[in-house]
Amino acid sequence: MCRSLAHEEMQWKHVFHSKYGILGDKDDIEKTISKIGSWRNLFCEKYYSEKALKFKYSATGWKHRTCNYVGCYQVVRSLEKQIKHHQVHELRSTKKQDRQEETRKRKLEKDARQEETRKRKDAQKKDRQEEIRKRKLEKDAQKKERQEETRKRKADAKKEAPNKRRRKSSPDVETQVVDV
Ligand SMILES: [Zn+2]
Repeated sequence: MCRSLAHEEMQWKHVFHSKYGILGDKDDIEKTISKIGSWRNLFCEKYYSEKALKFKYSATGWKHRTCNYVGCYQVVRSLEKQIKHHQVHELRSTKKQDRQEETRKRKLEKDARQEETRKRKDAQKKDRQEEIRKRKLEKDAQKKERQEETRKRKADAKKEAPNKRRRKSSPDVETQVVDV
């Protein structure tokens, strides 16, 4: 069903193209089609607009017609007017392209700025993590040092202990030792 509809659409587009030609930029044409619903509808609209001008001619014999740009029904009554009117479309299209180019550039610049910010933040994060890691290492080292010192002191105390005991064996200390 969908396939046959799509096929029908393509046929209508083909009919439209061979009868009226298709002018305009791709985006504008797509917008027009989605607004009006289908190439069939567009064809009908164009057909009736043209039909209304069927027997109208300018003094020079130019047949009145609607503009060749898709979705535009401006009536043109001479070749000069048609050229002028088409120029308006072309100018509009050029301006649109300029704007799109400008938008594209701005987007690229924005992306570059975001990438720059991201990189800077990543670097800052890394620095902070490195700082934390360093501090932790320092702390660990200090802790080890303290433990080592304590161990040494204990070892020294042990070494000194027999002396102490010997010292404690002096009469004035001895009473204290007994108390403990
Ligand atoms: Zn037009």
